[in-house]
Amino acid sequence: MSTYSADLRATYNSGHTRPLAWRKHQLEQMIKMLDENEAEFLAALKTDLGKPTVEGFITDIAFITGEIKLMLKNLKKWNQPQRVPTPLVTMPAKSQLIPEPLGVVLVIAPWNYPIQLLLVPAAGAIAAGNAVVMKPSEVSAATSTVLARLVPKYLDQKAITLVEGGVPETTALLAEHFDHIFYTGNGTVGRIVMAAAANNLTPVTLELGGKSPVIIDESANIHVTARRIAWGKWLNAGQTCVAPDYILVNEKVRQPFLDELGKAITDFFGADPQSSESYGRIVSPRHFDRLKSLMTGGKVIIGGETNAESRYVAPTVLADVDMNSALMNEEIFGPLLPVLSINSTKQAIEFITARPHPLALYVFAENKSVVKEVLAKTTAGGVTVNGTLMHLTSPHLPFGGIGESGMGGYHGKSGVRLFQHMKPVLSRGTKLDPSLAYPPYTDKKAKLFRKLL
Ligand code: NAD
Repeated sequence: MSTYSADLRATYNSGHTRPLAWRKHQLEQMIKMLDENEAEFLAALKTDLGKPTVEGFITDIAFITGEIKLMLKNLKKWNQPQRVPTPLVTMPAKSQLIPEPLGVVLVIAPWNYPIQLLLVPAAGAIAAGNAVVMKPSEVSAATSTVLARLVPKYLDQKAITLVEGGVPETTALLAEHFDHIFYTGNGTVGRIVMAAAANNLTPVTLELGGKSPVIIDESANIHVTARRIAWGKWLNAGQTCVAPDYILVNEKVRQPFLDELGKAITDFFGADPQSSESYGRIVSPRHFDRLKSLMTGGKVIIGGETNAESRYVAPTVLADVDMNSALMNEEIFGPLLPVLSINSTKQAIEFITARPHPLALYVFAENKSVVKEVLAKTTAGGVTVNGTLMHLTSPHLPFGGIGESGMGGYHGKSGVRLFQHMKPVLSRGTKLDPSLAYPPYTDKKAKLFRKLL
């Protein structure tokens, strides 16, 4: 039976994807696809998520081309063997790590940044010399349709395939044998992916989510803090894996923070965010209903308006939060922001460490010892200090989760290394071949070994 992975494996085994020239061409073609069809991609993002054009350009076009350009610039370097030292006992010899592709890679993407989260890992896999199957999310259907039409037009169909579909199609793909599976999405499906991968001992990267907390210390610059939180929270209408999920604010600065947050919302989106060109929409009626129901977990103090027809949920801030509610126990993944009061850094740290490791953690403080304490005593996939989301944008900082928020990291060099096996090779010379290493093991040799080893 012909399967996607078997067809691509035949291509991979033929050596087709190994030459750097092939990889370079595919990466250039990916950039060309995004350049030449930018308007169509942005229109699809608008249909799926009401994504503002500028936001779509930054997060789902420019971010990808930036990553690919970095791969192109370093393609040769990142695929070169690395010399490493050789221990005395193995001399004469030289040792190196030879980067080799893994084989056939499956990339499964979600709907919130549906182009970026499909193409960036796929580009990393291609730069490393792999064949790739891409599976976009069926939830962002308009974007999936555009990708399905353009990917075969621009990229080499012998080695790169895009499969559209939802649960049945992904389940069928997961039954096939891949050499690496890169999955982005929720943790429930993450477990399904990992269990399926176990059948073939396939390594996985799981880019998951969770409740990313924000700590606001009394020393924080409240004006800047509020604006940076408002930006990170309401980008893509809160449907960002690293969006601030809830706030732990020192009670001494709670009211000034709420005042500034309200002002930031009005500054960014006007008095009626529903009519703002800079504010997105909820991806589907299911997620709209989910968010409406989450809203019952606290008292709305800012926003709260909704419109089912346009799937609009206002930037919403909640107080008096019920700790047993879904609002405080599930990832919000939408524009609702619960604000909780704390009275010390210690209390914030205890709150966070009593919960699963988040994908991101944010701490706002001018007092450096507070930042130091938070960094030393909490665990998170990544951290931005005095900001939100920004650690994700650096190609020098591997992006990923830990524990419940995922495993493995990518972006920049790490996004190529992820799809390579650094094959250790020790090559010995034959001019010298001391008999010391061979039996019979005399007392003299034994004494020498004790000195040498
Ligand atoms: P989704 O519903 O689009 O699902 C993700 C992918 O899994 C899709 O391609 C879908 O077809 C597939 N899928 C769904 N159910 C499946 C099943 N039963 N079996 C096999 N495949 C299945 O997206 P989602 O899960 O709603 O995405 C949101 C989640 O993703 C949030 O938790 C968010 O935090 C997380 N996320 C993480 C990152 C990151 O980089 N760490 C980025 C974006 C989103």
